[in-house]
Amino acid sequence: MFAEAAGDATSIADVKVELPLLRTPICFIVDDGAPCVNPVYYWARDCDKMPPGTAKPWIHTEAGAGARSNLTPCIPLSFLQEYVAWANAVPHKGKFTVLPIPMGLGRITEGLKGCPKTEVDAWVKQGAPGSLAQESGLKAEVDAWIQLVRDNLPQMYDITPECWTHTLGLDLNSMKTTSEIESDLLSRLSQSDPLTELVEYISGALSALKAAGFDPTGFTNPAWFKGDKKRYGQAIAEAFLKIDGPKVTFIFVDVDQKSPKVLPQTLYVDRSRKLACVNVPASCNEPFAAQAWLGAKIDPSAYADTYLTADGARGRFADLMETGSPIVFFAHWNTLWAEGTQGGLRGVQEIIARVNRVLAKQVVWMKPSEIARWHVAGETCRFKTDGNLATIESLFACENFTVSLGIAGSAVKEPRGVTVNGRPLRKIPYREFALEEGTFTCKDGRVFAGFRLPEGRTELEVAGSE
Ligand SMILES: [Zn+2]
Repeated sequence: MFAEAAGDATSIADVKVELPLLRTPICFIVDDGAPCVNPVYYWARDCDKMPPGTAKPWIHTEAGAGARSNLTPCIPLSFLQEYVAWANAVPHKGKFTVLPIPMGLGRITEGLKGCPKTEVDAWVKQGAPGSLAQESGLKAEVDAWIQLVRDNLPQMYDITPECWTHTLGLDLNSMKTTSEIESDLLSRLSQSDPLTELVEYISGALSALKAAGFDPTGFTNPAWFKGDKKRYGQAIAEAFLKIDGPKVTFIFVDVDQKSPKVLPQTLYVDRSRKLACVNVPASCNEPFAAQAWLGAKIDPSAYADTYLTADGARGRFADLMETGSPIVFFAHWNTLWAEGTQGGLRGVQEIIARVNRVLAKQVVWMKPSEIARWHVAGETCRFKTDGNLATIESLFACENFTVSLGIAGSAVKEPRGVTVNGRPLRKIPYREFALEEGTFTCKDGRVFAGFRLPEGRTELEVAGSE
């Protein structure tokens, strides 16, 4: 307790959750990651198996026909090696998909042995970069891919399945693909009661990743979703519980490149079990994706300009920062590869270099799981104020949790101390983007405090003016 001087009573008027350390969360998502195969090649191929009347992606329309025939089936291991070397050297965080049975070609742990001989032969015949002459060679390449991702990327990325195959749904009894698109299957199961079948489908994919040595922390929807999102969120939370995974998890399913502010949305919370699933939408679209998929030449600077100009003044990122919106942007693995031109990767490298050059102080790189936790902790915690004491009851722990406190009382301008559960925070003079975990600062009659929020009860105590 702080000793209060007479006539120096400090009173907390209100408590507000702020952006983590008053910075804009930023996150980069890589979709459709899979060992060695080019997802868009198989996406186009599997469209042939879809029932008549199914809405198909553009690549399978008349317009896409010519383009389709030129796609290569393989993304060589050397591209992943280059990607990992870059990713390890450049500060950023995000999410990376690993498909457990990419395009129905077989379990990644079994080296895509489900891949028919004719197909392997076709790879070789087409002379795709990195194509291999025999299945045993392919197994070695797949194993090397898994090891590289497993050993390098999880420090900066959440690993998620994008359900099993990303193309056609699986029959979990036979483990064979059906004629239903996987995203349609997931949409349908989210609307059936009970959710058991959907939970099984999702937890199976999570377990398959665990068996391959990954530690999945979230979920990505393959392609479109037309079902019940809240129940989808519940099924994902239940599926993670089944595999002993994190109790706060997330889904990437939505893209909103237009709204001025794009916030996460809590899909499911169970207060008694302390379970939650949060929808973390992308707030930017993926420019030039269609061109990149077909290997058209892309200017990295033009690619990056749509997100952020080199001076940091314009672009979608600048607009989102104005509104205090998290910045979540994404690319597909095959966009990065871009039929060997690596056009997407060069574009993304340029964007991230610009962010780290001109926005380094204003933003905080976060994984979607960290954004999800920050969002749901802030949304579900309950505040009570009593004089100079604010009590927070939180279901979830959260790093870099940041609140501002309105201070009432004309005598009090700059509180001399703030404690969190009895531990003093370090006072720092107010400067933009200077707040760190374990510090507080004051501006315009408000106190801003950054600290690690524990689960349960937290007491924030403010001492009177200096
Ligand atoms: Zn995808």
